[in-house]
Order: sequence, then C-alpha cells, then structure tokens
Amino acid sequence: MNRVRVLLLNVALGPLDYRVPQGMQAAVPGSIVVAPLGPRQETGVVWDPERLETQEVGDNRLRPLLQVHDVPPLAEPLRRLIDWTSDYYLAPIGAVLRMSLPSSSALDGARTVTEYRATGRVPERLTPQRQQALDRIGERQGLVRELALAGDVSDGVIRGLVKSGAIEAVAVSIDDPFPRPDPDGHPPRLEGAQRAAAREFVTAVQDAEFAPFLLHGVTGSGKTEVYFEAVAEAIRMGRQTLVLLPEIALTEPFLKRFTTRFGCEPVAWHSGLRQSQRRRAWRAIATGDARVVVGARSALFLPYRDLGLIVVDEAHETSFKQEDGVQYHARDVAVMRGKLEKVPVILASATPAIETRHMAEIGVYKEMKLPDRFGVAEMPDIAAIDLIQDPPPRGRWLAPILVGELKANLERGEQSLLFLNRRGYAPLTLCRACGHRFQCPNCTAWMVEHRLVSRLACHHCGHMMPPPRACPECQEVDSLVPVGPGVERIADEVLALFPDARTAIVTSDTIWSPAKAAEFVGRMEAGAIDIVVGTQLVTKGYHFPNLTLVGVVDADLGLSGGDLRAAERSFQQISQVSGRAGRGEKPGRVFVQTHEPAAPVIAALVSGDAEGFYEAETEARRGAAMPPFGRLAGIIVSSEELGEATEAARLIGRTAPRVENMAVFGPAPAPLAMLRGRHRQRLLVHASRSLPVQDIIREWLSKLDWPRGVRVAVDVDPYSFL
Ligand SMILES: [Zn+2]
Ligand SMILES: [Zn+2]
Repeated sequence: MNRVRVLLLNVALGPLDYRVPQGMQAAVPGSIVVAPLGPRQETGVVWDPERLETQEVGDNRLRPLLQVHDVPPLAEPLRRLIDWTSDYYLAPIGAVLRMSLPSSSALDGARTVTEYRATGRVPERLTPQRQQALDRIGERQGLVRELALAGDVSDGVIRGLVKSGAIEAVAVSIDDPFPRPDPDGHPPRLEGAQRAAAREFVTAVQDAEFAPFLLHGVTGSGKTEVYFEAVAEAIRMGRQTLVLLPEIALTEPFLKRFTTRFGCEPVAWHSGLRQSQRRRAWRAIATGDARVVVGARSALFLPYRDLGLIVVDEAHETSFKQEDGVQYHARDVAVMRGKLEKVPVILASATPAIETRHMAEIGVYKEMKLPDRFGVAEMPDIAAIDLIQDPPPRGRWLAPILVGELKANLERGEQSLLFLNRRGYAPLTLCRACGHRFQCPNCTAWMVEHRLVSRLACHHCGHMMPPPRACPECQEVDSLVPVGPGVERIADEVLALFPDARTAIVTSDTIWSPAKAAEFVGRMEAGAIDIVVGTQLVTKGYHFPNLTLVGVVDADLGLSGGDLRAAERSFQQISQVSGRAGRGEKPGRVFVQTHEPAAPVIAALVSGDAEGFYEAETEARRGAAMPPFGRLAGIIVSSEELGEATEAARLIGRTAPRVENMAVFGPAPAPLAMLRGRHRQRLLVHASRSLPVQDIIREWLSKLDWPRGVRVAVDVDPYSFL
C-alpha cells in the first residue's frame, strides 16, 4: 500500500491522505500532484507525513491520486521553510504553500500559449466599449482575460474585436531558455573596503554554508557592485542567486546595472508579469535554468533548484513586510531560507533597521562596512529650513530659501528633486460654507483629491468618486477647498514659480510598471526633466549624476503617526532621498523643511550623526523592552457588524492567559477603526524575547469561538499599528 499525505492548495482544507495507484511514477515528498476531492480536482504537494497531522483514514477508503506533475518536486529546505513560516506567523500552511505555486499554468506540459494584441485595424462597428478597450490596451499583449481587465470591458468585447480583425492571436513560445549572465562581463574596479567585502562574500559563496551578512554602506558607496561579485561567483559555480528588492519600481534601475555588469538581464519576478511570463520564469527557476532572479518579496518562496546566494537589497525597507494574507517579513524569512538552504545571505542597506544592527552587534550577522562614496562623489550637505522663521507665502509650501536654491539650480542646468510622501493633490477636501469633510464611506479615512485624473480617492480601499460641484451637505456650489499639499499640488506650485521648468511627478499613480519606470529614467538621463516631485518611490535605487539638489517638503510628516518606528523611518527616508543628490562629479545639497529643527531626527540628519541617533533610538527601545529587545504581536478582530467585532475582541481580551513577562493591551478600536467596510478592534501582545509567544497565542485563540462574519488576524512582529 503506497499511502501519501498531501497538502492541498485549498486553504479551507487540512492535509489529506491518498493512495498512489500502481503504474504512477513515485510520489516522493515535494511532488506536485492532482488529487480528487469529491467531484473536483485539487492541486497539492506530497508532504512529509510526520510534519502534518490529519485524521486517520483506513487504507480501503483512500482515493487514488490522479496525476503527478512532470516538474521537479519542492525540495526539503523549501518544505521546511513553508512549515516554519506557517508556524512562526500563525498562517495556514496551505496559504504559505500557495506562494510557492503561484502559477497553475506552470505545471502543464504545453509549450505555447495563445496571446492577443491589437492589429491597428479599426473595426467596422466601433462601439464606445470597443473604443475604450482599444484605447486602454494600446501596445499590450496577453490572454483574453488580461486584455479584458486592461480595457475594463468584458471578455466578450475582446472576442468580438478578435472576430472583427482589430485584435489578432499570436502563438507565444513560453519556455524559451533565458540568456546566461556572463560572470566575467564587465567587472568594476573595486577599492579598499569594497574589495575586502567582495572577497569575503565570494569566499562565503564558495564555502556554501549559512552565513548572514550586513552590508552597510552609505548611499552611493557601491554596495551593488560589491554584492555583484558574490553573484558572479555563484554564476561561475552554476548555482542560482535570488536578489530581493522592496518594490517593483526599483527593478528597472537594477536591471540596467545588472545588464551592464553581466551582459544580459536577470529573470524578473513580480506582480506585473503576464501569465505566460510567470510560467516561463517559474519553470526556469524550478529547473535551475534561471541563474539570477530578481524580484519582490513573493520571489522568496519559489522552488529554486540549486540556490547558492540570497541578497536582500534596501533591507531596511518596511515594504518587505507583507500586510495582508500571510503577514510575513521577507527580510527575516530570507535569513531563514538561507539557513535552511545552507547559503550566505547578504542584507544590504545604507540605513539598516535597528533589528538588523542589533543582530550585527551581538555577532549573529557579520557586518561589512563601506564608508565612502564610490569614485569622486561626496556625501551631500544637509541643511534644515525652519518653517517658523522662514515660512512660505500663504497657500504655498516651498520656503523662500528653497525656492532660491531651485532657481539657481535651474539656471545652472542641473536637476532637482522635491520629496513629499503624499500622493495626490490634497489629503483633505472640505466645504468652505459648512465645513463638511469628504470621508471614505468604507474606511476611517479622508478622501484624497487626485486632480490629474479628477477624482477623490481613498488610499486604503480604492473607493473613488468624481469631485462633486455642489457640497453634498449644504448644496453650496463651488465651495470645496483642498487642504494641505500632495505631490500634485507641489508640482503646481513649481509650475507657477518656474513656468518654463520641465517637471515630472513620480508616484505609484504615475510609475506603476517597470516600463513606466524605464521611461522616467530615460527622460531624466536625457536631461528632459528639470524638477522631479515625488513620493518615497524616488528615494532609492536611482542614480542620476546631474541631480544635485534635494528638497524635503515636510520632514515632520513621518513623525506624526507616532508608532514605534516613526523616528527611525523618517531618518531612513530622509537619508535615502538625500542620497539621490550629488551622485556624480558635482556636489549635492539637501534642504529639509521642518517646524522642529531641534527634533532629534532632524538634528542628527543635519549634523550627520547617524550613529548617535541610532544609539539613542536603540537605548529607548531597550528601556521599553520594545523590538528587538522584546516582542510584539497584534491581534486584529474585524467584522462588518460593529457589535460582533466588539464582542469577539472583548472575548479575546477577557480570556487572555496570565503569563509572566507578557502583557495584553486592549481591545480598543483600531486607529483605522473601519477599513473596507469592516469594523476593526485591536489587541497588542507585548512579551519578553524568551517567551514562545506564538504557541501561547495559538493555544489561547484555539479555545475560542466567534460568529462566522468575524475575522481574527494575528500579526507577529507587526510594522503597522493602524
Ligand atoms: Zn457644505
Ligand atoms: Zn476607503
């Protein structure tokens, strides 16, 4: 009797036992299989039976597996990573497994797929729907479903356009091999500390043992060039490298640098891939053909055949923390994967997180420092502008000193960057007559005006509406006024000050794909932009030698939230954006607008005393037993019914176990008391480092019951306190 335990992708189901029928190829642990479930077929993975408990079912009642997919089985280290992630983050194991198998088409044998694209021919009958579809699809190519989504029309409209000849079918071969990067393409000339760090990394790759590193270097110190040497060594050894980047928009500058060094692009993995690209990449990763993979955090769980190195670039970025579904931190899971795969892990950052610094301090991570900027570039000077002493004129946001600097920079023909981490035109719209404020109907949040698309939008749930002419409260016409600035409003102000300046707004609204990022980079490099106004999207990764002036419009903005990491995050963000200035031969200058020039964050930035700042922050955390010196876990209880949510949260609070060195705070309404139509209550667990806090929470919640409409999510090591 050949019995196997199968973990199904269907999260609602537990693991189930099946029989391997005679004649079927061996179903070893890790094999990806098709299993029957009632009348349906489910995809699953054969799991190590001792790792998963299930109800005993007699041999005679087992149903046979239907198929073993002809792809490599998930290797043992990846299976253990999935176990660990599920355990540590209190997530259903099926949900974690899904991240390893995000493409069902990757499992099929077919080698071509039919995609569609516009032919440029105008159909005989051009309905508004068809027109809209063709407008929005543009040059895009993809499956019928993908084009329908892009065009915001039904599948039927796309099929109609195919019949009319306006869209044509193309057979795409999806499993073409990827080009092989050449490890000896264009090696850079490394100096001093760079050479020492590169040598250390190369040795670690050769040793093929778990070795966590912190690569700590100021912006522009050549961190990428240094870890590229480790990547080159992994390529020489025929092993795979995974490079994690915090956001898709950063992929573009990375691809360019990679291509310059290695002669071809690496394999990219991100949410913007078409289904056929996703399949091709997944299969190349699973067979080992993809030598270097660069991706967002979701690339972390892919089934690499022979991983030799992991790099986490911009490792301090909080976007490595996933906030929905499985709430994991990709930086921490990357280190765990390195441990299980027995490979070195390099965390690269100019402003490492306090958690990471601490690991280096206690000797768990080996710290490699790069103190200088690469080549001739110098670190930029940072000066504060006191908005109380030097205020902008009424209704404006740029202080006279900053305006003067912008003017001088324009006259010199150099580029400037204004940073404000706020999308849209204005964060709040109100009625001048009655004071009515526009709030999202689904969330505890103001509607943000986006003037470029003339919409009011909620940044939490995506709810949108056209700005009404009349106030919905008092019916007064043309009475709505924007309050406060977003990047679009700053761009307006720049235009009013310098009508001839060429500006660009860079936010996730304007740069939503690698192609858009490439276009922006191209225009910057060609000198077609004088002043960039951008959110945190422009603060990292980019290298523009002619960008010499950075203005931080509101340095106090990040501090207003007041959570545990607010000061640290502000420091990182302003350091990062400052690092964009003066990366070539010309020196850079940075001006930081603030109402509180004496605040520790601002003072540290101006004096350049990063170490002093981090020391003070670290001591404050140590004193309050906050991470990394203590542990936190959030418990978020939500329901569409206010009463249900409150009651379930109270029940959880009431039954909190009394454990020494652990305190439970709340429940209390979350700061975002309503999100996507759900009422939210929060509890916060604060425990000492040594407590097995996950086990305690698991045990505690497993005994409780709540109505079906209530959702209870545990956020281990939380980054968001909303
Ligand atoms: Zn009104
Ligand atoms: Zn909303």
